[in-house]
Amino acid sequence: MPTLRPSDPTSIADSPPAPRPRGTPADPQKYAVIAAPSAIDGLGAFAAEFIPARRKIGEIRGESIPTTEAYARARAAAREGGRIYMIALSERRTLDATAGTDVLRHANHACEPNTVLKVQQGRVAFYALRDIQPGEELTARYGPTHHGGKLVCRCGSPRCIGRL
Ligand SMILES: [Zn+2]
Repeated sequence: MPTLRPSDPTSIADSPPAPRPRGTPADPQKYAVIAAPSAIDGLGAFAAEFIPARRKIGEIRGESIPTTEAYARARAAAREGGRIYMIALSERRTLDATAGTDVLRHANHACEPNTVLKVQQGRVAFYALRDIQPGEELTARYGPTHHGGKLVCRCGSPRCIGRL
């Protein structure tokens, strides 16, 4: 997943928090999502159950690093042919999820996506923009990416902007 800059709509409602025993870390994954081969790019993230509109789907966790360090890591990964998963948290901070396992790392860009990313207090969460059926690929609209407009978009939308 390329570095991306989420939009921040105010109309998205959070899911009610699930009760859990004291001392148990919260699992940010609220709905079942699986990684599977995508027609858009590589592995994608797919809904494994029905997800109602506006609900929080889950989060991508990772290491918060300075954006300058993120660019250095991206260049190193490009040299070594490695894949990176990074999300801009702000102008100065970037979340590096490359070492993580959260399945939403695999969410691909689409020009007419069915989810939206929200960054709050350094946490990156995905919310459903509409009802999502089991088996649908989860997509989000990325802002400017480290690809600098050189990556061809294959989202298949008639309103595709063409490049990332
Ligand atoms: Zn597109």
